[in-house]
Amino acid sequence: MTSALDLASFIQHRATESDHMSSGHRPDEHFGTLTFSGDVMLKRLPADVYEKLLQTIKRHAPLDPAIANSVALAMKEWAIEHGATHYCHWFQPLTGDTAEKHDAFLTPDGEGGAISTFSGNSLIVGEPDASSFPSGGIRETFEARGYTAWDASSPAFILKSRSTATLCIPSVFVSYTGEALDLKTPLLRSMEAISVQAMRIVRIFQPGTQATRVSVTLGCEQEYFLVDEAFAEARLDLQMCGRTVLGARPPKGHQLDDHYFGAIPERVLAFMAELDRRAVELGIPVTTRHNEVAPGQYEVAPTFEDNNIAADHQQLLMHLLETTAPRHGFRCLLHEKPFAGVNGSGKHNNWSMSTDTGANLLDPKNDTHSNLQFLTFLCGVIRAVHLHGDLLRASIASAANDHRLGANEAPPAIISIFLGEMLSDILDQLEQGSPKSTKKGGQLSIGSRVLPDIPRHAGDRNRTSPFAFTGNKFEFRAVGSSCPIAWPDTVLNVIVADSLSYVADELERRAGANPSEKKLEAAVKGLLKEIVKAHRAVVFDGDNYSAEWHAEADRRGLPHLRSTPDALLVLKSRTASQLFARHKVLSARELKARVEVLQEQYVTQLQIEARTMLQMLETQVLPAAFRYQSELAGSLAAVRAVDLDSPATADRLEEVIQHATELRRAIEALKAAEARELSSVDKHAQFMREQLVPALVACRVAADHLEQIVPEDTWPLPSYSEMLFVR
Ligand code: ADP
Ligand code: MG
Repeated sequence: MTSALDLASFIQHRATESDHMSSGHRPDEHFGTLTFSGDVMLKRLPADVYEKLLQTIKRHAPLDPAIANSVALAMKEWAIEHGATHYCHWFQPLTGDTAEKHDAFLTPDGEGGAISTFSGNSLIVGEPDASSFPSGGIRETFEARGYTAWDASSPAFILKSRSTATLCIPSVFVSYTGEALDLKTPLLRSMEAISVQAMRIVRIFQPGTQATRVSVTLGCEQEYFLVDEAFAEARLDLQMCGRTVLGARPPKGHQLDDHYFGAIPERVLAFMAELDRRAVELGIPVTTRHNEVAPGQYEVAPTFEDNNIAADHQQLLMHLLETTAPRHGFRCLLHEKPFAGVNGSGKHNNWSMSTDTGANLLDPKNDTHSNLQFLTFLCGVIRAVHLHGDLLRASIASAANDHRLGANEAPPAIISIFLGEMLSDILDQLEQGSPKSTKKGGQLSIGSRVLPDIPRHAGDRNRTSPFAFTGNKFEFRAVGSSCPIAWPDTVLNVIVADSLSYVADELERRAGANPSEKKLEAAVKGLLKEIVKAHRAVVFDGDNYSAEWHAEADRRGLPHLRSTPDALLVLKSRTASQLFARHKVLSARELKARVEVLQEQYVTQLQIEARTMLQMLETQVLPAAFRYQSELAGSLAAVRAVDLDSPATADRLEEVIQHATELRRAIEALKAAEARELSSVDKHAQFMREQLVPALVACRVAADHLEQIVPEDTWPLPSYSEMLFVR
């Protein structure tokens, strides 16, 4: 039995929980929905305006500029009632963060009064100076002017901090020439591409369908670490890089698997309760929360939404994680690999396609073997991933994710698909021509009469696959925890749209117009048989971590792009630029610009890590080693002064001197690598991977040796044990 609550009571319900648990929040704080959607919209907009806006939200119909003033007025009044003084166009530039430029609702008129500045026009467009955002060269050749434009399909929201409240209008960001300077524009375009191609296939199978568009549905599982704020403040690397560039391994990691799904510590639960409340107020439908594999690691997952809204909500959720943590004395780390040797963090990207009549196109239903529409979409995705696995790999490339992929804790950098027993069996049957049966899971008896029998799935789960079919959706698991999802989803949407367009072309050609059921069935089975034969190599249900798979993948010709510089080059290929252009998602120039920004980010991130490490080594680690060295030398001299000897002290002193000498040498090498300038960003990125990354590792090895022998009270940095186990 289910019972319904209206949103306001639901938020109140979550608020009660966080009231109980949180010391940080004030009882007078206002609770209510902070998004301009649903009931709020219905209550505040004239009926005809509401209807028109709803068409834009639900069916992505073009926004009618004539309603803008009316919407702006309602939004402004609503926002001011919630304490907002300013509004902003909130967008996702290529920095990977969000950007906002605040304008006041009311400005002094110079005559002792104030004028309202929020018109329909300011709702729809903004004009921030584009010159301070990365553009990958698009900007230099034209003007600095840039425009933000309201994405009316994603609800506006009020972002509250302790001191202020701001109305945020989800927007896209383009240059004076109309070229995309953000992550949202191509995402929206790619959703359109999927809709067009997927609808062609839906219409082939259901000529009389009521559906008018197909949307991409997206649900993300976000992993993160919580570290006591005091420790985070004491470490320059956590401040500057979001990860520890030094640190000896703790005696205990996740070997015991005692943290995963374990009881959530009290302070963490209080944090989660407040996070949940803030998220729900902002319209983010968070549902699950639990401990993750590593000590200090947790996960939060909202229910799936339309891809563009999920992408906005994902950015907002990361913001909430980072700003809620300090209220509970924590620092939230979203980095892919905050601690070496400890499980890293990812962001499972659950992806499917659904018609506007509510049918999930990747739902296999009961008799899957006869569900030809499902099998067609499934094969379309398999073909896309086989043809363009390298682009998917490129879409998640970053210096941070390089630490994680292939480290036996996350999928390898080889992109393959897990289908599970039931679907793999159907692929076998498709390859023979005509599938006849669907494997069933049956009932699982637990062996005690008091326990219920459990319906068993037709296949087990596989946690090692980068791209797994999980019941009625695909889960792209190689995405990094700090990555905005808009870009990997754009790439995934484009490659699938392209493959679906091939499938639709072929079916139209083979079956002809208005085919009989029989003719269509024959055409579908013929095509799917070909696709399975040609693209099955990308399907792998075994252990993706094993060395055997890496060798096998090589034999199958699957690309293995181990590092970011190699992966990004794929996006500079002709195939890539034609693909993006064909579906009007990015022009060749827009794509090239984007890749250059990503390459620059790779270089810059590593430069920052190198500089941070150098500063810590020179001003904290080496001085600590010298202090210990002189303590040992003094102690040895004192012993020898009374005509005794201490070989243990002498050995230790030698050891310290040796590691400090190694460290000095490693520091010199790192300095040289960091200072190197190269003529092109391609070359610079390669150089960073080949020279700078190993230099960072060498410094770390020497410093971590020292940490293991220098007395705790002399070591200047919080240890892994403290950061991971103090909650
Ligand atoms: P698990 O940890 O088992 O992978 P979770 O329940 O933590 O699963 O997360 C599953 C995610 O998949 C949730 O965000 C959920 O909303 C999302 N999801 C479920 N169905 C769909 C769908 N049709 N399209 C996209 N995402 C979906
Ligand atoms: Mg998952």
